[in-house]
Amino acid sequence: MIAWWTGGAWVLYFADAPTLVKSLATGQAPSIAYIWIGILTFTTYIFAGWGREQVCTYMCPWPRIQASLTDEWALNVTYLRDRGEPRGSVKKMKQRADQGLPAGDCVDCGQCVAVCPTGIDIRDGIQLPCIQCGLCIDACDNVMKKIGRPTGLIAYDTDINIMRRLEGKPPVYKFVRVRTVIYVVLIALVGGIMLYTLLNRSMMDLNVLHDRQPLFVQLSEGGLRNGYTVRVLNKRPNERSFTLGVEGIEGARLEVVGADQYIGDRAVLTVDRDTTREFRVLVFTPADAKLPRSTPVTFRLTDTTIGEMTIVKDFFKAP
Ligand code: SF4
Ligand code: SF4
Repeated sequence: MIAWWTGGAWVLYFADAPTLVKSLATGQAPSIAYIWIGILTFTTYIFAGWGREQVCTYMCPWPRIQASLTDEWALNVTYLRDRGEPRGSVKKMKQRADQGLPAGDCVDCGQCVAVCPTGIDIRDGIQLPCIQCGLCIDACDNVMKKIGRPTGLIAYDTDINIMRRLEGKPPVYKFVRVRTVIYVVLIALVGGIMLYTLLNRSMMDLNVLHDRQPLFVQLSEGGLRNGYTVRVLNKRPNERSFTLGVEGIEGARLEVVGADQYIGDRAVLTVDRDTTREFRVLVFTPADAKLPRSTPVTFRLTDTTIGEMTIVKDFFKAP
């Protein structure tokens, strides 16, 4: 049920969700919706229900990316082995301490391993499957509190600091490094490009497809006719009215099946909110037009209210 709820919900991204939910409930949704819900439910069940941490470790690219981004100066979830080793039970470590032998703070309770979602032992050092969730930090802190030792045996720390403490030196933190500066610049650059694209995205679109067969029709009065399938996309949340015209051939005339009206030589098309509408468009040339086999033409779609405009180039075919 969880796989169906989470995996199947993806399908709602590709249609108007409330309408699709209604039609799914009444059994009237297109069969492709049921097929995709089935596929996504099945794959979610396999990956999240059965594969689980194997997906994180072997299929997800993140561990590889993380490994290539980190270095010995980076703060990572780290077992402070300078403090924890040698490990052992409270009793055993007390005996060692009493004998003047080194005794670590790790009581080897295994709680950090038990809570780890990818099943690793962080005491073996930073590893590829670690997703830096920090659950082992909380688990170990709880153990430390219970036995009255300072928390932070597993904490965010760097490899450099572990080495420094083992050598008796104080820890140092260096956040501004060549690596971190490059990351900040790259993130700012990619973020800037994404923001620019988002703010300047077109809220309308036009697709034009020339008829494959016949490429042209010779009319009895001497002119030529080409047919196109035109799809208009309205990405705004309100109904919009557009004018569609064709440019590139002197005296060419455009006719749209289903056009609401014409303003001069341009057809007026209405498209509902957040939807696309397909039109059959015919372009006629005057009888005396002398055209090569292929003439570039431009379809221009303009919003009649706000003037937003888009163009698509295509060809007019002649004998
Ligand atoms: S941070 Fe999370 S994934 Fe990494 S070792 Fe600890 S519990 Fe496991
Ligand atoms: S939870 Fe802490 S004390 Fe227990 S085994 Fe892990 S590191 Fe050692």
